[in-house]
Amino acid sequence: MKYYSLEHKAPNVSFKEAVINGIAPDKGLYFPEKISPLPASFFETIESLSNEEIAYQAIRQFIGDEIDEKSLRSIIAETVSFDFPLVSLSENVATLELFHGPTMAFKDVGARFMARCLGHFAETTEKKQDVTVLVATSGDTGGAVASGFLGVEGVKVVILYPSGKVSDIQEKQLTTLGQNIVALEVDGTFDDCQAMVKTAFLDTDITQKRQLTSANSINVARWLPQCFYFLFAYKQTKKASKELVFSVPSGNFGNICAGMVAYKLGMPVQQFIASVNENDIVPRFLENGNYTPKPSVATISNAMDVGDPSNFIRIRELFNNNFEALSEMLTSYSYSDTETRTAMKELHTTYNYTADPHGAVGYLGLKKHQEKAPQTLGIFLETAHPIKFLDVVEDALAIKVNIPEVIEGLIQKKKEALFIKNYAEFKDYMMRS
Ligand SMILES: *Cc1c(COP(=O)(O)O)cnc(C)c1O
Repeated sequence: MKYYSLEHKAPNVSFKEAVINGIAPDKGLYFPEKISPLPASFFETIESLSNEEIAYQAIRQFIGDEIDEKSLRSIIAETVSFDFPLVSLSENVATLELFHGPTMAFKDVGARFMARCLGHFAETTEKKQDVTVLVATSGDTGGAVASGFLGVEGVKVVILYPSGKVSDIQEKQLTTLGQNIVALEVDGTFDDCQAMVKTAFLDTDITQKRQLTSANSINVARWLPQCFYFLFAYKQTKKASKELVFSVPSGNFGNICAGMVAYKLGMPVQQFIASVNENDIVPRFLENGNYTPKPSVATISNAMDVGDPSNFIRIRELFNNNFEALSEMLTSYSYSDTETRTAMKELHTTYNYTADPHGAVGYLGLKKHQEKAPQTLGIFLETAHPIKFLDVVEDALAIKVNIPEVIEGLIQKKKEALFIKNYAEFKDYMMRS
């Protein structure tokens, strides 16, 4: 499969090159040349297929012959080796829990798939050179990437995170793994970390010494495998024979965009709802056709605090930049922190369900849509385990949440990070290690 840049000023590349480059030289996002629907029989018989088989059929065309069947099947088996339960809350509302992976957020799926693809390419490249994955994180991404790449041969991971600005659990997820994972604790903000990463990619002293790649959410190997669990959900709801609605708590819009890829593969869906917090760029766009990025505002659903959603351009491309066609499939609603807390309480008292703030925003968008479409079966995605947002959850629900054993174990582990004050120190580390 070939990929083109959405800026249209860079050469088309293979899947492998798209994964290694991350972003095209003209700064455009890569997009597959063609998306062919799966045969009708795939959807008719989906209940008889294993998750691994569903994932294999869905991703095969995006990789072509660049990874042999046996290797691809084993990459997939390792990627989806945990549960994706659809928990029914009422006759017409269910939640798809995406937090049963090692770092308890949906980003595990994309990170694990990308890590194994890179590992495969490193193994099969003649001139053996380790790849260094550089990533800046404000929280969840770093943990998912660290865990996903742990022990992958031929790949080193360097994670930059802002000192004192990630939660304790998140910091431990980044700093306690060892092996091929190095955490750099930066004296600065997330934006400073991001700026250092960007500068390193342009710094020829570093790039002559190490082959750098990024693992942020625009990488095609993180984006595309996220279509898997939309199909797993469809499989679990087929018996109900109701029209499906997916409500996706959205920040950079990679997750929902992958859901729309499943739709392009032929999965029957009535509507996608992009549920957002007060960062409401997309609802505004769908209202008036003007896409106007804004600086992000901080909310309690902080993984969605994004003022210029990077993957939204891919959603527009999926609909050939046709505003009307897009508006028919996509609705978007924005919610305040107060509304989010109220939704968390409602889920807890009405359904005895403890949701994290991101999932609660998804629930709100779904409820709003179902006022007009009550016969549908609505699924909101629960993108993280509530324990990852312990303070918010305990405060909103006035309860104590039990800490799972894995987290207890994690909190006991010893943090190892290198403290970095500025770019010079960072560069020094990159040159000598
Ligand atoms: C990253 C993240 C999101 C946003 O996902 P996008 O693909 O960026 O839209 C939502 N919820 C949680 C918990 C996340 O970590």
